[in-house]
Amino acid sequence: MASPSLDFEVIVIGAGHAGTEAAHAAAQMGCRTALVTLNPDRIGFLSCNPAMGGLAKGQLIKEIDALGGIMGMQTDKTAIQYRRLNSSKGPAVRSSRAQCDKPLYARKMRKFIETLPNVTILGFEVADLLWESSGEKNKITGVRLRDGSILRARAVVVTSGTFMRAVMHTGFEQSEGGRVGDEAAKTLSRSIEELGFRLRRLKTGTPPRLDRASIDWSKTEPQAGDAVPIPFSFYYRGDRFPELPQVNCFITHTNSQTHEIIENNFDRSPMFTGIIQGVGPRYCPSIEDKVKRFNDKDRHQIFLEPEGLDVPEIYVNGMSTSLPRDVQEDFIHSIVGLEEAKFLKHGYAVEYDAVDARRLRATLEAKDVGGLFFAGQVNGTSGYEEAGAQGLIAGMNAALLVREKEPLTLARHDGYIGVLIDDLILKGSDEPYRMFTSRAEYRLHLREDNADLRLSEMGYRAGLLSEENYRTFETKREAITKLGREVEERFLYPNEATNAWLRERALPILKDKTPFSAFLRRPEVKIELLGEVPVETKLNFSGMAPEVIEQVEIQVKYAGYIQRDLELLESVKKNEELRIPLSLDYARVPGLSTEIRNVLVETRPETIGQVSRLMGVTPAAVANLHIYLKMQRSAEA
Ligand SMILES: Cc1cc2nc3c(=O)[nH]c(=O)nc-3n(C[C@H](O)[C@H](O)[C@H](O)COP(=O)(O)OP(=O)(O)OC[C@H]3O[C@@H](n4cnc5c(N)ncnc54)[C@H](O)[C@@H]3O)c2cc1C
Repeated sequence: MASPSLDFEVIVIGAGHAGTEAAHAAAQMGCRTALVTLNPDRIGFLSCNPAMGGLAKGQLIKEIDALGGIMGMQTDKTAIQYRRLNSSKGPAVRSSRAQCDKPLYARKMRKFIETLPNVTILGFEVADLLWESSGEKNKITGVRLRDGSILRARAVVVTSGTFMRAVMHTGFEQSEGGRVGDEAAKTLSRSIEELGFRLRRLKTGTPPRLDRASIDWSKTEPQAGDAVPIPFSFYYRGDRFPELPQVNCFITHTNSQTHEIIENNFDRSPMFTGIIQGVGPRYCPSIEDKVKRFNDKDRHQIFLEPEGLDVPEIYVNGMSTSLPRDVQEDFIHSIVGLEEAKFLKHGYAVEYDAVDARRLRATLEAKDVGGLFFAGQVNGTSGYEEAGAQGLIAGMNAALLVREKEPLTLARHDGYIGVLIDDLILKGSDEPYRMFTSRAEYRLHLREDNADLRLSEMGYRAGLLSEENYRTFETKREAITKLGREVEERFLYPNEATNAWLRERALPILKDKTPFSAFLRRPEVKIELLGEVPVETKLNFSGMAPEVIEQVEIQVKYAGYIQRDLELLESVKKNEELRIPLSLDYARVPGLSTEIRNVLVETRPETIGQVSRLMGVTPAAVANLHIYLKMQRSAEA
């Protein structure tokens, strides 16, 4: 009997963090979208720790939100602890983090996706991709489900996370599955390989979960959240913030006995005995890895984090492991406060197939297969935020492709999302890639506080950010401009009244007429002081949003550094705009060495800017290519 065929415009495979962003973006931009997932009860499920954001990752969530995505909003609905990291340091490295209620996050995400008008959720396994040959390039036409049904669409976004040919390991025990409680995706990898992609094995791991009631909390150190939390979403519209009661996390440490137990069992570790072949994240190592690599350290910090308000599970952050169960129990019980801890789940590692993202364009569409997009952990990243950011870009571009509109790509100077995608498509990743602030060149420009100023206009123009949110953004932008102008145009004078007022506050007196902006640049001056200065033109902050005031303070105080970033950025922008046709025949470009030509043929960069960042490509080669393209263009003109 012939299987039924269903028509969509965009199909998203997978409903994790990349999949939900992709489906939401495509649907919001007007496309009939199918969201196909192995398990509809786990839409937006937080596979590991229910913590969102953190260093550089907080910036990613803010950027997703600024463009019109959903991760920030869902975090605000379910956060049980907010912490702005590095709040005493400069604005470039401040990042927000929130501990969420894990079951609630998934429930709210499912409910939200179910209410989207253009999304159909299908609880099936996608067995194969379907495509046709069209000229030199293949073109995606849809997918086949495990029961044989066919779904058709012009664009397909693969966000299969840790699920393709996934195997879980605890000691020498192995079982198929993308994470505990979920099956593996068994055949999708084959289809991707048939399209010419090389797959590699990566690995990630998770720590044990302990029963809250069995921990001796009196022996641990509480870590409170922020006294005045700030929503993740620029467009937060709840009646009561924060929406949920806020709770503490707790700190304890490993000790020499813990390390000894682990060391004595290295020979039972699937990682050290070669059973796990996949490459794990170096920056987020398992505890056995940490004990081996940093054997001069006599203790490691551990955070005990609640997985929700009404759930017994406590996540033991810092203790990811795939050692056997009995070893896990022994070493956990050696830790202060955890002597009697009861295990609710043991730690495990999962190995899975990932694609080489160097085969993708900056839109995350495959260079050789029209309409096929990849986003999330399948591209060799790790983390919800990295996945969500890619899902958003892939979903938006899938919709733009279907509507035959200009694609939307972000450059490195537009945001951390631009940095992430540029790194992936140019360098690929030999190990799960996570975002760090140090990966970005323009850190002072790419702050989390100005993500909306950088990206909301783009999100709105592309059709993703809603009209209502855009109005909110415009109001804020106008308020910032107005206050910024007042700070530039108003002055303090070196008269008796002002200098007496300064002396009272132990501040240096004025000798010259001084703009408010110059006064504000003094390290000891906070912007609030400009509302108290003894002049008629003092600022009036009443009714003004704190984020407007903070933005102006940052822009004025760090103006010199920001300007330097912007000047640097202007000089590289030109190279980003110089596009290279994917079909360029590099054999015809004079002056390139064979090695460099091979790199270019293999990567097929899309701009001169990308060429300049490729490993092994010399400035002379960039110049040769530049000249060749210019000559081509003038010959065509
Ligand atoms: C054990 C474990 C430990 C982790 N530890 C960390 C950590 O320490 N730090 C960190 O940052 N991140 C960690 N992660 C990673 C984090 O969970 C992922 O980065 C994030 O969930 C990736 O999001 P994603 O959307 O790409 O994929 P996922 O969240 O994995 O979602 C994949 C989705 O695809 C669906 N799917 C897959 N194949 C098919 C198919 N053929 N048909 C239909 N549906 C399909 C699945 O059902 C699922 O909905 C861990 C993950 C696991 C599993």
